[in-house]
Amino acid sequence: MKLALIGVGQAGGKVVEALVAYDGKTGDRFVTAALAVNTAKADLLGLKLLRPEHRVLVGQARVKGHGVGADNELGAEVMSEDVDEVLRALDSVPTHEVDAFLVVAGLGGGTGSGGAPVLAHELKRLYTEPVYGLGILPGTDEGGIYTLNAARSFQTFVREVDNLIVFDNDAWRASGESVQGGYATINEELARRLGVLFSAGETDGTDVAESVVDASEIINTLAGGGVSTVGYASAKLDRTEKGLLSRFGGKKREAVDDGESLSRILSVVRRATLGRLTLPCEIGGTERALVIVSGPPAYLSRRGIERARTWIEEETGTMEVRGGDYPVPDSDYVASVVLLSGVYDVPRIKELQQIAIEAQRSREDHEAVAPDALEDLLSTDDRLDSLF
Ligand code: GDP
Repeated sequence: MKLALIGVGQAGGKVVEALVAYDGKTGDRFVTAALAVNTAKADLLGLKLLRPEHRVLVGQARVKGHGVGADNELGAEVMSEDVDEVLRALDSVPTHEVDAFLVVAGLGGGTGSGGAPVLAHELKRLYTEPVYGLGILPGTDEGGIYTLNAARSFQTFVREVDNLIVFDNDAWRASGESVQGGYATINEELARRLGVLFSAGETDGTDVAESVVDASEIINTLAGGGVSTVGYASAKLDRTEKGLLSRFGGKKREAVDDGESLSRILSVVRRATLGRLTLPCEIGGTERALVIVSGPPAYLSRRGIERARTWIEEETGTMEVRGGDYPVPDSDYVASVVLLSGVYDVPRIKELQQIAIEAQRSREDHEAVAPDALEDLLSTDDRLDSLF
């Protein structure tokens, strides 16, 4: 599936670059175009892979390239004023070759948090292709303002996109390590999950798969809106030790036990679904799901994938489970990505909203008493005269 990626804000730009790097490494399958948009010039300069004409500085008149300082209302205003700059940069992109847009942003800051929903709104107005969002939730240790920003942005962004894939930094923080320290690793993990998902629809046809996933299946799984989460797991194959290469019709073929392949696929899909999701949630009640199994064609047991689909149907309670394979001949792994779309039972979102409501209330209380408090502080009961 061909995507135009647009990263808004610092996290947006970095995650887009992680996706571009993954795509380059695995053979340029799903990224047709990639842009980064920011109010902070330094963040754009800090990117490594995107071409200069694909880095768009917005809000120069308002913030002079210094960023919006975690003020997401300002981030939204600046994007509304300068969205034409982004659309102009998209003019150089072959959008007719694109199956969908993906707008990526960290929801806790200012530029991405405020700007991404505004940009998604504009893209939906102008293009017929679906516009998806990738929203990153802040870690709980980042503080009240980030939580408040994220909760407000989340509820706006989800309404402006055709589907919002969510990644929770908090769930991905390595134990004992700050989220900041681990961003590079976290971004790679995220890129691998989305990379397998979106490149699945882009097999080049040389390796005939049993039941290849195509772009329309990804689009149909994401259709209907709401919030999505993605799971991933892999199993290493012992291809050399077995050395079961035999000759069939003059062609070298790997002799693989189908029963073993079937149970390996079932186990990998179970781990992908029940392990750590990009957004941890209860999977019962999921509206739609897509399961992709990748690996060398000989290991992609059709029965295994069918059984895995049935298992996901039972676990989630939805009949709408699509599935297929994604052949990667040279891989030493069988891996699975599970996309759960339309998830509702998400304790982390409820927690985020609760903390945000409290943060908003305390900010309002604070603002209400602040002028009086300043008066008190400055007051000398007229025993001291101001200069002028
Ligand atoms: P903005 O530039 O104003 O949009 O703000 P940032 O993107 O710098 O930060 C917004 C939030 O994104 C932060 O609160 C972090 O939770 C998160 N974040 C920042 N950088 C990264 C990154 O490289 N990866 C991930 N996963 N999250 C990030």
